[in-house]
Amino acid sequence: MAKRDYYDVLGLGRDASDEDIKKAYRKLAMKWHPDRNPDNPKAEEHFKEAKEAYEVLSDGQKRGAYDQFGHAGVDPSMAAGGGFGPGGAGFGGFADAFGDIFSDIFGGGRSRSNVFRGADLRYNLEISLEDAARGTETRIRIPAMEQCDTCHGTGAKPGTSPSNCPTCQGHGQVRMQQGFFSIQQTCPRCHGSGKIVASPCATCSGAGRVKRHKTLSVKIPAGVDEGDRIRLSGEGEAGMNGGPPGDLYVVIHIRQHSVFTRDHNDLHCEMPISITVAAIGGEIEIPTLDGYAKIKVPAGTQTGQMFRLRNKGIKGVRSASQGDLICHVMVETPVNLTARQRELLVELEQINRTGAGRHDPRAKSWMDKVKEFFAE
Ligand SMILES: [Zn+2]
Ligand SMILES: [Zn+2]
Repeated sequence: MAKRDYYDVLGLGRDASDEDIKKAYRKLAMKWHPDRNPDNPKAEEHFKEAKEAYEVLSDGQKRGAYDQFGHAGVDPSMAAGGGFGPGGAGFGGFADAFGDIFSDIFGGGRSRSNVFRGADLRYNLEISLEDAARGTETRIRIPAMEQCDTCHGTGAKPGTSPSNCPTCQGHGQVRMQQGFFSIQQTCPRCHGSGKIVASPCATCSGAGRVKRHKTLSVKIPAGVDEGDRIRLSGEGEAGMNGGPPGDLYVVIHIRQHSVFTRDHNDLHCEMPISITVAAIGGEIEIPTLDGYAKIKVPAGTQTGQMFRLRNKGIKGVRSASQGDLICHVMVETPVNLTARQRELLVELEQINRTGAGRHDPRAKSWMDKVKEFFAE
């Protein structure tokens, strides 16, 4: 198989900075590390490819040779005798860079080991507006890898036990000869565990871990809003080879409410009122998150008019005061009129006409504009 261009492997252009190279490699190393992809046989290939590209491009001297001569410029078999820089010095430089990047990835600990912090997990939780306002406690079920009960985590069939890996003699690391120097690498056969399972456990297929579900209790503080995250420390994916577990992030989504819409800490609702209440005024009952409240509607209320009820909104998680409830009044035109209702409205209309616009402020100002327009 033809070797891919090292810059293509890292997804970079030829003008990439050292920092770009380091970043790109770190991303690929995290993505393709064999321990993170136990079911993907291609992962190791990708991982090695990225590593090789990084080793060359992160070394100024080797990068120069590669830029000029391509793969031939850095092929260890072509470099016998040290055509492109003395081996000793080159090795020191790149080992440092390599150790450096790995301690970044794995957060120190065992040097160049397979100790991984488990991945962070995200759980989307939908809650009602009422629960968001008041706070609640809920239970969620999340998938989790747990130690297999059948083999107690060894991965070996009961009655058998894992044997030392013949490739690395149980060390988990192998020394690889690369040209004129050797480097220590995670054993490709046992992926660093040092153990090989000859007869795998039937329950977990030799993985030592099985997928289960665990139930967690989540406390949701009063006032949470759409998109807020609640961190459950250590409840993410389990770590590898003794690494710490990741965190679980519960992301809040608020279900649409049939009456209220939320705007930060304020609540809005629409309230239909009759044409007569709007005209002569009256008291109406409007819903709030904790029962009904009464508001006085003054005579001459127009559709779209807003009434604000202080502190009847939501108190945000991080805010000191409570929001308001804003009620938008909609004047409703009566339908299905009886003969009597119709009679009254016709009479009302006749009286209104004699008022010369006094009873319809909006229509009057509109008519005035129309008249002005024709007068010009
Ligand atoms: Zn098992
Ligand atoms: Zn091994």
